[in-house]
Amino acid sequence: MAELVVRPDERFIQEVLANGGADLKKCYQCATCSTVCALSEEDRTFPRRQMLLAQWGLKDLVLSDPALWLCHSCGDCTEQCPRGARPGDVLGALRQQAIQYFAWPKFVARWVNNARAVWTLFLLPVLLFAGLGLWGPETVSEQMEFANEYPVPVLEALFFSVSGLAVLAFAVGLGRFVKALRVQGATAPILPNLVPAIGEIFAHRRFQKCQAEPFRYPGHLLAFWGFLGLGFVGTVIGIGTMGGWLHTPLPLSHPLKVLANLSAAVALVGASILLANRLRNQQLRQRTTYFDWLLVWLLAGAVLTGLLSELLRLAQLKVMYGVYFIHLVLVFALLAYAPYSKLAHAVYRTVALAATRRGTRGGP
Ligand code: SF4
Ligand code: SF4
Repeated sequence: MAELVVRPDERFIQEVLANGGADLKKCYQCATCSTVCALSEEDRTFPRRQMLLAQWGLKDLVLSDPALWLCHSCGDCTEQCPRGARPGDVLGALRQQAIQYFAWPKFVARWVNNARAVWTLFLLPVLLFAGLGLWGPETVSEQMEFANEYPVPVLEALFFSVSGLAVLAFAVGLGRFVKALRVQGATAPILPNLVPAIGEIFAHRRFQKCQAEPFRYPGHLLAFWGFLGLGFVGTVIGIGTMGGWLHTPLPLSHPLKVLANLSAAVALVGASILLANRLRNQQLRQRTTYFDWLLVWLLAGAVLTGLLSELLRLAQLKVMYGVYFIHLVLVFALLAYAPYSKLAHAVYRTVALAATRRGTRGGP
């Protein structure tokens, strides 16, 4: 087996403390959290072990641990920890560090996760879409349409290019993650286990194990399926528009339009449940950091402005162009920064689940 280099890293500890894991050092290894966590098994030390590794600053070891990604932030352990060390929050902070650790290029991950620079994330898309709006299309219809303001095939080509770059960044990040898993000797064959892992994520089976927080499961499930539906529809419409066999705006009765509106409604309901849950549990079970809020606001903003711009277009109100502009900026940010934001957890979690399938090598 390859040699694992372990270097205690004081800077890493400070970063965990500053990004949601402020109570890490209170942990005195009583193991209550491992007893409480529904995902921890009798012969496992999750999440107590990860708390210890983080306290010692063993960055390489803890960030390569697949168990980090199996936690679904239910907060049961945080509620029961007798020292107030908030292990659920610490694991969230460690996942954020892991996303930056494996990210490519790393400076983009540091930029996206810097709360003080948040406004700069929107500079590029604002300039891009303002430029495209000024450039404008060659043909203009009498009705108010978004196509009057933006050349739609160019928009679609731009979004496909951004998505392609995001896929490339994910591929490099995942390559690093899988390499780190192998160094730890903690991986089952990933490819054959991907299908059952994806099935587990689609059904949210682990979320169902959280007894004390019953709303988290339906909230996350609805948000997940809603955004999956929107991603699917967006991709098909994008391909269709560039291929010339679909012309937007689609009528409200078009199956793709029906699916888009249904998905948006489902995503909005799910996101609202999660948001209400977070606000209610802020002190008791789950703290919310900049890392969490960035994703929540990008997702909610993109869905809301998408629905609103459609309603305004149907009402033929000129303000629709302004709302659509904000929608484009938010969708761009969502796609472009996906490998560095909390959205990346979906991808890392899938691979971690595949790498720790039962019958090959155990879970947490
Ligand atoms: S995090 Fe809390 S419950 Fe878990 S081992 Fe540390 S002190 Fe005990
Ligand atoms: S937050 Fe929930 S899933 Fe995560 S370690 Fe704590 S009890 Fe387990």
